[in-house]
Amino acid sequence: MAPSLSLADRLADVRTRMDSAARAAGRDPASVTLVAVSKFHPASSVQEAIAAGQTVFGENRVQEAAAKFPPLRAQNPDLRLHLIGGLQTNKAKDAVRIADMIESLDRPALADALAHAAESLGRMPDLLIEVNTGDEPQKFGVPKEEADSFIRLCRQRFGGSLRGLMCIPPAAEDPTPHFRLLRSMAETHGLPVLSMGMSADYPVAIAEGATLVRVGTAIFGPRPALA
Ligand SMILES: *Cc1c(COP(=O)(O)O)cnc(C)c1O
Repeated sequence: MAPSLSLADRLADVRTRMDSAARAAGRDPASVTLVAVSKFHPASSVQEAIAAGQTVFGENRVQEAAAKFPPLRAQNPDLRLHLIGGLQTNKAKDAVRIADMIESLDRPALADALAHAAESLGRMPDLLIEVNTGDEPQKFGVPKEEADSFIRLCRQRFGGSLRGLMCIPPAAEDPTPHFRLLRSMAETHGLPVLSMGMSADYPVAIAEGATLVRVGTAIFGPRPALA
């Protein structure tokens, strides 16, 4: 990472590459939203990104997001927070309280916990179902072969709050078949949002139909180690 590049420069570079990938695929660049993944980075970095025009952020831990975002949101009402990490049921209430979108709904017990939290808090974030397209045992996400029935169940339960699907392809594989599988599942179920693509592969994901890309390192630099 060139130290001479500021966060604003890196953000502008990501936006430029997103626009070219969309145009090359014959898509409207406005149909793809950048989720800037700020996990492990301090609120001051988020503030720099906000100053450079970024409004949508992704965090993977509820506790970290709950400490970082409410104060930023007070000053920036347009801010949108996506929770993108595996979610424990005992964090569901905090997640529903702070998130605009939860991208990692992946099992019936979590659907129950989110539904209860939404009822008691009187708010429901938008939801994406995370699909484990690589069937990796250690990964979050509903297994491929259970995805159809889980999507139908969540559709019935959450109606229009269920917006789409998310995946994290296995790191060592060509992501394209995973992106295609996710897209075809979303099309089958008439779901409009496809969250796929990270720093290493977001242009490919856009070529394959991503409407949300989750980019961390390419914007914020390497993540500092957590204390
Ligand atoms: C950390 C993370 C990202 C961002 O990864 P980068 O490679 O830093 O762009 C995207 N999605 C999820 C679910 C993540 O946890």
